[in-house]
Amino acid sequence: KDFRNDVKPNWCPGCGDFSIQAAIQRAVANVGLEPEELALISGIGCSGRISGYINTYGFHGVHGRSLPIAQGVKMANRELTVIASGGDGDGFAIGMGHTIHAFKRNVDMTYIVMDNQIYGLTKGQTSPTSALGFKTKSTPKGSIEKSVSPVELALTAGATFVAQSFSNDLKGLTSLIEQATQHKGFAFINVFSPCVTFNKVNTYDWFKQNLTKLDDLEDYDATDLDVAKRVVHEHNGLVMGLIYQDDSRPDYQSQIDGYAENGLTFADLEMNEETFGKLAAEFM
Ligand code: SF4
Repeated sequence: KDFRNDVKPNWCPGCGDFSIQAAIQRAVANVGLEPEELALISGIGCSGRISGYINTYGFHGVHGRSLPIAQGVKMANRELTVIASGGDGDGFAIGMGHTIHAFKRNVDMTYIVMDNQIYGLTKGQTSPTSALGFKTKSTPKGSIEKSVSPVELALTAGATFVAQSFSNDLKGLTSLIEQATQHKGFAFINVFSPCVTFNKVNTYDWFKQNLTKLDDLEDYDATDLDVAKRVVHEHNGLVMGLIYQDDSRPDYQSQIDGYAENGLTFADLEMNEETFGKLAAEFM
């Protein structure tokens, strides 16, 4: 099970995205997947390159559209483990509409956001997760907008698995990706992934000083949505670990009559026109 390929990433030395690539490769091997059993769909941005750096099925989609593509792949072939990945701009700006609906739809897949609080590929503009007052080329006097809190958004929109990690914690991130790929429903992991070239505020040291590990909080209960929302809010979104998991809600596909046994890839479409029509109508 070797998820490595010969392509050398062209991320800047020290970029947090290297650890996310390594964590995905380790996690999918640890849960026993073969390369042909995984599909990795990415959006646009420095992070979007990841689909070319892992030895598996890969699809480098257009900006902000990794989630509709990934959900379509999973709907067509439920035998595949599907991971979508992209950056904070990809997921929370141009792709935000898809992100909200994916949270509530609960298709059985994993979404990993490589959140560096800036647009790296276009050389350093303020992104949706940049903090109030953050100075970049696009906000030279400091951002006057409040930042998006990805995990609070996921909790509010109905995601059934919400976690947050940090590129510097390879072991913890690998474990969360293992749990996410085995969760029966939509699993979201926001990963703080420092952009060492353009974000000189949210650095490795900054995260080490500001992140709180949920494992260190006494009696934290990741099955209690109210507790999750309160604790995340109290820490200004800066927590690490499994924030919330709801195993009771069925995933999207299992609620469609006739779909549980076969995805579209294996369906006899002529014989199942009715099922296909219903599926298409539900997914539009
Ligand atoms: Fe990573 Fe930033 Fe370099 Fe892009 S510009 S590869 S996000 S360090």
